[in-house]
Amino acid sequence: MQLLRGTKDILPDEIVLWQHIERTASQIMKLANYHEIRTPIIESTSLFKRSIGNGTDIVNKEMYNFIDQGSREITLRPEGTASIARAFINNKLYTHKTTSRLWYLGPMFRYERPQQGRQRQFHQLGLEYIGSLNPMADAEVIRIAHKLLNALECSNYKMEINSIGELAERHKYKQSLIEYLERYINDLDNNSKNKLYTNPLKILDSKDTKTQEIIYNAPCLHDYLDTTSRKHFEKVCEYLEFLNIQYNINKQLVRGLDYYNYTAFEIKTKSLGTQDTICGGGRYDSLIQELGGPNIPAVGWAIGMERLLLTIKNQLHEKIHNKKPLVYLAVNGQNTEKEILNIIQLLEQKDISYHLDLDNDSLQKQLKKANKQEAKACLIIRDYEIKNNCVTLKKLSTSEQKQFSMIHMDDLIQTLKKIN
Ligand code: ATP
Ligand code: MG
Repeated sequence: MQLLRGTKDILPDEIVLWQHIERTASQIMKLANYHEIRTPIIESTSLFKRSIGNGTDIVNKEMYNFIDQGSREITLRPEGTASIARAFINNKLYTHKTTSRLWYLGPMFRYERPQQGRQRQFHQLGLEYIGSLNPMADAEVIRIAHKLLNALECSNYKMEINSIGELAERHKYKQSLIEYLERYINDLDNNSKNKLYTNPLKILDSKDTKTQEIIYNAPCLHDYLDTTSRKHFEKVCEYLEFLNIQYNINKQLVRGLDYYNYTAFEIKTKSLGTQDTICGGGRYDSLIQELGGPNIPAVGWAIGMERLLLTIKNQLHEKIHNKKPLVYLAVNGQNTEKEILNIIQLLEQKDISYHLDLDNDSLQKQLKKANKQEAKACLIIRDYEIKNNCVTLKKLSTSEQKQFSMIHMDDLIQTLKKIN
């Protein structure tokens, strides 16, 4: 059987890196009072159509949709924010406190062309700060993203930031942009041509060189922002400067989802090829109301776990190893079961890790396997040990051997702890 295109097994050797990232994130989040939330992987298709937006690539081309046995339209979530906004509304998280600081980690699904750093099932680690319009909130979430990346020793990155204003400002801008682009319609790449009337802002993002040349002289969204939008942006930049967080203002930066306003930012690493954006985020003040909730502003980001891992995997692997079991339990003989069960219960009680070999191979072969597994000690149970109600300990580094009585196991435990 083949693995589905765009999906990957994450094997034990790599899982230790995932656990390290999760532990690091969870510690950083806890300090700033962010709480983990887990929402379902399946949601109503309409949730994403209403939030991400009908003109976007995600909704038009990338969603995994299906009809369930009860004729419901269902989608495997392509991102986390819409589900969190829905959960925030459904669970009325706004009734007891004014702000909710939430974070999540989980699989997302988009039907895209798989390549390095782009999968159909991938994972996002993200956070949302719901309930504040203050530019300090934008600076807070950006600061936490930087803190996390630095804690994970991912340093080779740069951040781009922009303000995309409010809906009304964007609306006016879109009209001028369309008017401008219409003059060059024949020179635009096909993808951009298709977006001219549905999602013209996304054309600013085009990677096509000819389109980029045209964009260079296009009207600039910044010129359409009013004072409130500008002030918000200036404040965010001011706080970032105070925090010594490097950024570049990229006036062409827009986001692929409709629900953003004011701040939009992306963190790009210099060590990946074309899929270089490891984190994307921004403010989405109208999303919660749009989905039927109260008028509550929010700001957040999402990091692509696979892309992050591609950039830090090598140096992390050197630091984090899959811990090997300390003790190898080599068994060979009849009626050994009860002694095995006693010993493994004791080892677990004392927090000593072990590998139990039930293959009934010769002792010599089992010792070879124990060495290969890099165990520190081997506990041997054969007919001899059963007859004498004892267990034999062999230290693998020196091959020293010693018998311990099954009646007083304290000595054995003390010796094992010393070997560790
Ligand atoms: P891109 O421009 O690379 O398609 P995006 O704008 O669609 O990214 P977002 O929706 O902002 O991405 O998602 C946030 C992050 O999730 C991205 O910066 C990226 O790291 C990661 N990501 C998005 N899509 C994928 C994917 N198909 N495979 C792996 N990671 C992804
Ligand atoms: Mg995308």
